[in-house]
Amino acid sequence: MGLTKRMRMAIVALWIGMHVQVAMMEKVTKPKPDISTSPLDIPPRVLMGPGPSSAYPRILSTSSLPLLGHMHPEFLSIMDNVQSWLKYSFQTDNKLTLAVSGSGHAAMEAAVANTIEPGDIVIVGVNGIWGERLVDMCERYGAIVRPMRLEAGQVFSQLDVMAALQANPGTAALILVHGESSTGTLQPLDGIGRIVRSHRALFILDAVCTLACVPLNVDEQMIDVVYSGSQKCLGAMPGASPLTMGPRAVAKLQNRKTKVRSYYLDMNLVGNYWGVNEGQPRAYHHTGLITNIYALREALAIVAKEGLEYAWSRHELQAKALWEGLQKMGLELFVTNAKARLPTVTTVKVPAGVDWKEVSTYVMEKYSLEISGGLGPTAGQVWRIGIMGHNARPGNVAMMLSALEDALRHVKWTGLKPLGKTVVEKTEL
Ligand SMILES: *Cc1c(COP(=O)(O)O)cnc(C)c1O
Repeated sequence: MGLTKRMRMAIVALWIGMHVQVAMMEKVTKPKPDISTSPLDIPPRVLMGPGPSSAYPRILSTSSLPLLGHMHPEFLSIMDNVQSWLKYSFQTDNKLTLAVSGSGHAAMEAAVANTIEPGDIVIVGVNGIWGERLVDMCERYGAIVRPMRLEAGQVFSQLDVMAALQANPGTAALILVHGESSTGTLQPLDGIGRIVRSHRALFILDAVCTLACVPLNVDEQMIDVVYSGSQKCLGAMPGASPLTMGPRAVAKLQNRKTKVRSYYLDMNLVGNYWGVNEGQPRAYHHTGLITNIYALREALAIVAKEGLEYAWSRHELQAKALWEGLQKMGLELFVTNAKARLPTVTTVKVPAGVDWKEVSTYVMEKYSLEISGGLGPTAGQVWRIGIMGHNARPGNVAMMLSALEDALRHVKWTGLKPLGKTVVEKTEL
């Protein structure tokens, strides 16, 4: 009676296996990485590329505040304030106005994922890398993408938009990039919203490089969906990215035939956490980015305190001072049409015979100041200089110009015209 020899052996083997495994699991089998464990020591740098921009000190200090629970009334009330200030910054009454958890790409993806359904025709304005990425993103969400292409440095006209919509009847959405940070263009918006609306399409706008720095009025300009980021124009840390969706976009979201393909970015659910859906109780969806929301609150408080008109003029004035200085030095701006030039990110042509990297490395090593190279269609051809948020001040413009002048002298560029004493003339409002 009982177990055969084979069965007894199997039980013994199992017993040994279990105990050996437990013993193994209590043992560290991979050594500690050989990395310094002293507190972080970050070199102070002035970040004046296309982003991240140096943050306002007042915003940085929010990262040492204690955490709150993501459903604590005190935190929900901070979220409410963020929402009110976002509406002001976007110039909108849209209820669905909130911060998406993640960098600008997360808000970009949320805009696409929520409003585009498989089979939708989507027109994307491509005049730089951000349009390119939007094409890719829309394709991933099943759209039939009709890119509208222009050379780097050019912007779309009302006629371009009209022609694209006429050529593509039944278009569901048209997407443009307000500030193309890869090429330095500012897309004019006036009139475009009305044209897109008359074709019953949604107008989606990338404002990652413009919100609160460049004039934008979401409601007046009839833009249905706008997204942004926190670490460029708003001068905060990356992580909580503004998004607003108007009634036409929300109607599309609520009447979708298919579920939003991203759970994390489903604005039906995220909207409930932000309390934007009438009659729906606030509910946990994913843990709010507590500290990033503190930072965004602080950034938006700075915008509100300063006032949008003042912030817009401050950026315009500093950008113009920079452009003037660069041209006086003998450099050429990549975007020749001054009206289509983005104040927040300036693209400067790298002169023939100059190695762009040598210049930016010199400026970084000597001044701890960041100037970036080109990206996508402008790679190797330009430097990109950011004037955003905390950096949009006379002292920063002056420092940028004199550091560049020094670097160009260092690389022995023969075209250099010294700026002399009048580095920055008028920069105070
Ligand atoms: C930086 C940028 C993005 C992407 O933002 P991340 O915060 O890097 O994800 C999107 N669009 C534009 C125009 C940008 O400049």
